[in-house]
Amino acid sequence: MLNRSRRLRTSAAMRNLVAETDLRPRHLIQPHFVQPQAGSSEITSLPGIVRAGVEETLRQVEQDLKLGLATVLLFGVPEATAKSPDGSSCCDHAGVIPQAVRALKQAFGADLVVMTDICLCGYTSHGHCGLVDEEGVVLNDKTLPLLAEMALRHAEAGVDVVAPSDMMDGRVAAIRARLDENGCTQTSLLSYAIKHAGAYYGPFREAADSSPKFGDRRSYQMDPRNAREGLRDALLDVQEGADMLMIKPALPNLDLLWRLREATLAPLCAYHVSSEFSSVKAADRLGWVNGDQLMHEHLLAIRRAGADMIVTYAGREAVAKSWIS
Ligand SMILES: [Zn+2]
Repeated sequence: MLNRSRRLRTSAAMRNLVAETDLRPRHLIQPHFVQPQAGSSEITSLPGIVRAGVEETLRQVEQDLKLGLATVLLFGVPEATAKSPDGSSCCDHAGVIPQAVRALKQAFGADLVVMTDICLCGYTSHGHCGLVDEEGVVLNDKTLPLLAEMALRHAEAGVDVVAPSDMMDGRVAAIRARLDENGCTQTSLLSYAIKHAGAYYGPFREAADSSPKFGDRRSYQMDPRNAREGLRDALLDVQEGADMLMIKPALPNLDLLWRLREATLAPLCAYHVSSEFSSVKAADRLGWVNGDQLMHEHLLAIRRAGADMIVTYAGREAVAKSWIS
């Protein structure tokens, strides 16, 4: 007897019956770059994504909600004059992110999950994710109180989830403690648990204006050659109080996503990062690939490897072009 697997592939209905992986709008998280200035401006290397003021962001979120995209991740893009060596404007109660969080929660309440990025790189004049000394060494422990304070500001504004992406050691415990001491026990914490250093974040840095002015991030982000290191750090983050874990970039880390899926029961998020998105867009413009189909296959692979949710710049078009529904 020949085992004919193709019997289960004979029609779309049959393939749907046995499909193992689902991709729905509820799995997708829409990133937003929020600026103090009104209106919006294009980000050349992230086609279709803009930097926008609070009002404009509200309008976009309202449209996205109609598509079923009910989770946003906000990155602050403060004016250059608000940047300083210690990045202290990240803790400003009247900063653009607390403003945006208050406006979004007021407008959409429990219909929308609002997540915010917690990191100093958008706010420091040197562009590193933490404080640095005169030699340019990133000061892990001195950075923790600032990150915790930034998270508290967002929690006070009503954010649902804070997402520290800075990669300082011990920041999950520091943020959780600061939130709890101040009564913000309901604010969830999504930790960027595995974040590899490298070339995958180029267009994002244009969007968030957050490139390091000297050196690189290899002393605090992970070495792409390592897998066990990431799993160990991810499990430590759960011990420190992370409610959910993030892995980025997504496609180069499907092995880690799968292994982390086996190692923890916590919900897992993968960030389909800017270069993953933009390289598909660029190749599509050249006519070398079918961009829509390729992007869809990216997202399916990330789900299949174990991601419960995906941060992606492709969510809006995925739903609008009916790759998913
Ligand atoms: Zn950063």
